[in-house]
Amino acid sequence: MTDTATTAPPTGASDGPAAFPLAFRTTPSTAAKADAEREAILADPGFGKHFTDHMVEIIWTIADGWHDAAVVPYGPISLDPAASVLHYAQEIFEGLKAYRHADGSVWTFRPDMNALRLQRSAVRLALPQLPEEYFLESLRQLLAVDASWVPSAPETSLYLRPFMIASESFLGVRAAHKVDYRLIASPAGAYFHGGVTPVSIWLSTEYARAGRGGTGAAKTGGNYASSLLAQEDAYKQGCQQVLFLDSSEGKYLEELGGMNIFLVRHDGTLVTPSINGSILEGITRDSIIQLAKDRGHAVEERPIAIDEWRDGWASGEIVEAFACGTAAVVTPIAALKSKDFTIGDASTPAGEFTISIRQELTDIQYGRKPDHHDWMVRLA
Ligand SMILES: *Cc1c(COP(=O)(O)O)cnc(C)c1O
Repeated sequence: MTDTATTAPPTGASDGPAAFPLAFRTTPSTAAKADAEREAILADPGFGKHFTDHMVEIIWTIADGWHDAAVVPYGPISLDPAASVLHYAQEIFEGLKAYRHADGSVWTFRPDMNALRLQRSAVRLALPQLPEEYFLESLRQLLAVDASWVPSAPETSLYLRPFMIASESFLGVRAAHKVDYRLIASPAGAYFHGGVTPVSIWLSTEYARAGRGGTGAAKTGGNYASSLLAQEDAYKQGCQQVLFLDSSEGKYLEELGGMNIFLVRHDGTLVTPSINGSILEGITRDSIIQLAKDRGHAVEERPIAIDEWRDGWASGEIVEAFACGTAAVVTPIAALKSKDFTIGDASTPAGEFTISIRQELTDIQYGRKPDHHDWMVRLA
């Protein structure tokens, strides 16, 4: 393999001799948490702090494609200091949840959408595409050994974090010839303690999260890295989240650091920024659009000028605003603050649609209501 050759972005799906189905090797952890310790963690898991006993890894090389699929004990990974992800941020990730239903079974929500989005992110970051079936199998394999880590208290879940990194030791700038896919899992407590609490949002006019032709539509760590400073500004302004505008005109709503946004008009019409190449195509966003249409709401996906929201909220044309994503599901927005104006205030209660769509979605995810769209997939 020559390190100087420029190669087309690998596709992975058809590369190499890896036969399907990929055989997963399992190495059980010898340091698995005792039942009592795990139960103590599950009683108050927080978010992203604790991890299950195992993780999945699948290796890709330009020569052999996807191979060496394994369930191994959770633990530090060994990476050469020259691994290209550490220097050039060739990395993508996903986020989805496993939910425990009342009968003890464990389910996840629309994992095919996460698999396909990971593939789209891979294309943009010049990473190999993990076949959808490998992605789904990685979830099943991890849950086969770690299902006891799925909590059962209301609104709790096991957060699943698949990710892919360029692991080749090479400082030249090109798509890596060695890539690791990994899946880790972390029990998550109820996002809102003591009821859903509306948030205040800081409108960042100084920073953008994505530009035309950039990586805004890919779920990649770099987008998050570039949003952190704006998020710090939000905290300083007493806000919990930051809202970004389009980078060319600074006029149209894009999204929050990690959530999509919806406005609700007084006639019940939902309005949300269209998929424009720079916002992330949220699966929660897509599901809310579907459920709202099922209820007979009109849904407009189009550019939304910030003035439309500001003026509409003042005149009563816009009656609710909320953000959405897998982690918090639906978060009501109480106030929007910028250098020039503040609309709403922190005490604005969550709107009726916001509350009921959140309830409907979580009812489906936790198996409390029928799943008319066949969104749920059983994992254990
Ligand atoms: C993951 C993510 C979302 C939400 O997507 P879901 O599929 O609904 O979880 C929105 N915006 C950004 C930037 C994201 O990374």
